[in-house]
Amino acid sequence: MNNFEAGAFVRADLKELTPYQPDLFPGFIKLDANESPYGLPAEMQAQIYKNIGPETFNRYPDPGAEELVKEISSCYKLPPEQIMVGNGSDEMILNLMLTFGVGNRVIVTPPTFSMYGIHARVAGAEVVAVPREQNFELVTDDIIRAADGAGLVVICSPNNPSGNSSSTEQIAAILAGCRCPVAVDQAYLEFGGVDMQPLLADYNNLVILRTMSKAYSLAGLRVGYLFADPGIIHYLLKVKQPFNLNNFSQIAAREVLRHRELFAQQIAQIAEEREKMYLALQAIPNLTVYPSDANYLLFAAHGQAAGIYQGLLQQKVQIRNFSEPPLAHCLRVTVGTPEENKIFLSALRKVIGILGEKKND
Ligand code: PMP
Repeated sequence: MNNFEAGAFVRADLKELTPYQPDLFPGFIKLDANESPYGLPAEMQAQIYKNIGPETFNRYPDPGAEELVKEISSCYKLPPEQIMVGNGSDEMILNLMLTFGVGNRVIVTPPTFSMYGIHARVAGAEVVAVPREQNFELVTDDIIRAADGAGLVVICSPNNPSGNSSSTEQIAAILAGCRCPVAVDQAYLEFGGVDMQPLLADYNNLVILRTMSKAYSLAGLRVGYLFADPGIIHYLLKVKQPFNLNNFSQIAAREVLRHRELFAQQIAQIAEEREKMYLALQAIPNLTVYPSDANYLLFAAHGQAAGIYQGLLQQKVQIRNFSEPPLAHCLRVTVGTPEENKIFLSALRKVIGILGEKKND
């Protein structure tokens, strides 16, 4: 064997990066990743399979996903030139970093979605954190100050993992105060919060990220889309992989969007279940649960987070724990089906009971 060592050719900052590797526990109740608990309706699946032809497999996909973009354009009443699709919004976050972040500063507002920081670092950008307030509100003046000379600002609304949303006034103030592009990730908008799309008409530095992974049950197919001024899309196209969204996903996404109204009821049910779960969590002593506009709830467990997380795993329920401050004492649970939510709550009460007994031993 020769003595080649890959690490000798890797940047120091990349060596320090921890990959995003969520745990998979097959057969567990999965409330850790904010997916939809509902599969696609059977008729929709059947139609998707019908739309597949032999060329779905042997030909490269349409690089511009023209038919899908047309469908998005008609759903959202936005011209196709202002739309771009990606292999999940994750891909578009990376593309934003590669276009605007390389060798520059990227402003993020923790606690927030961790992939902004990870993709920014992969792109060799300097990540500048402008922390949210204690109640997770944005500090708009600090963001505007930090964005002076920066390449990109990324804001999540509703915010993952806190669940709160920003107001139109807050985002408009940031757009007006920043010279650089401002990406607003609205992955959870269908469940609540304020739609920032109307701001596109007044601010050509706004980028809106949307996904089909949450409300539209397509996490497995990786479909995201982005709205922005054509002047921004012009540059994003330079870094986009040519065949980023595969044929099957393009076909499925078109079918889902064509029948978007079929999802209204389950989205409403998830929002209703979220409110029930909020009240149930609030009633458990020593937990602090935060209001949410999304399909998950964040709660502080004050010294018991790790114990609760492990105890729930023993009950075959997987939620999300956070190992780093300021969320080290917090857990996030995705709203599942009514049955899953019941199982989660009863497992949680049991685990907290066991932890309490241990403490009193
Ligand atoms: N943005 C936010 C705020 C998210 O929570 C997630 C998924 N966890 C994503 C983007 C990525 O979604 P996608 O499946 O579209 O890549």
